Amino acid sequence: MTSPNELRRLIRQTLEMYRGMGLEQIPHVAVPVDSPAAAPPRGGGREPAAPLNRPRPMPTGSNSLGSNSSSAPWERPFKPGAGVAETPAVSPSSAPLASAEPAVLSPTPKVVRPAPTSLPVQATREERASALAVLQQGVVNCQRCPELASTRTKTVFGVGDPGAKILFLGEAPGADEDAQGEPFVGRAGQLLNDIITACRLKREEIYICNVLKCRPPGNRTPLEGECSNCREFLDGQLAAIDPEYIVCWGTTAAQNLLQTKQPIGKLRQQFFRQGRAKVVCTYHPSYLLRNPPAKKEVWEDMKFWRQEMGVDLSQGKKSGS
Ligand code: URA
Repeated sequence: MTSPNELRRLIRQTLEMYRGMGLEQIPHVAVPVDSPAAAPPRGGGREPAAPLNRPRPMPTGSNSLGSNSSSAPWERPFKPGAGVAETPAVSPSSAPLASAEPAVLSPTPKVVRPAPTSLPVQATREERASALAVLQQGVVNCQRCPELASTRTKTVFGVGDPGAKILFLGEAPGADEDAQGEPFVGRAGQLLNDIITACRLKREEIYICNVLKCRPPGNRTPLEGECSNCREFLDGQLAAIDPEYIVCWGTTAAQNLLQTKQPIGKLRQQFFRQGRAKVVCTYHPSYLLRNPPAKKEVWEDMKFWRQEMGVDLSQGKKSGS
């Protein structure tokens, strides 16, 4: 239990972090009583962190579904080429980031980067929402990347429950996101929605954001400098939400969060630690739109991750939450 003094110290530290980012004011955020943000704080109900030194699972392809089966339950008819330009070009092999320190893989995980001071576990949704509102204002005003700031229509901060246990991290807004100011609303977002449903989750239960808050022109891969310019905002979001699980969708998300140059194929099927969150990495939905057979691997990753949450997706019924 955090003492009132410790709570004060943590809030002061968080505010100082925001001040360091040039944010001087915390707007009041009114949270409607019937919104998820007004539900009871999750603090007390958090499960203790499970050990991460679980054995590496069987390689994909040797699973019970067989290597050639397209086992992803969200499978839809795929029209090659349709709308692909609308989504960022994410390749599982692109490696846009410099590595500060290699990510440490299970079974000996450690924090790969000092975690920003998180809000206390018992912080309310209102406090988390306020912290996010401050950050969002900073993003709206941000001019750190002159090209992105001059070409964006809207900044795309993030969406979802400020008290979410799960955070999804994508790469950067595409054309639809840039127009609407919300992450994952284009074709990749529709596929992501299908994956969320197949995982027996609801989009509203997840906080969704990207490494970059502005659309790179032509959906090009984010530049290293752009990612580091935006990293403070992501760190602020992670500190405010303090999720239990982070799913990195694609190379940019995984490499940026974990500060590694390891290819996404090597980062899959294991847990990393970021702050107190367990991190899993998988292919980006845009990559799946271009390469539907990879849906099978993503489904394996979803099963791997949800199993850790006590949900066995290979069974018809729920075994946990
Ligand atoms: N791709 C992303 O990585 N993020 C979005 O918000 C949309 C597409």
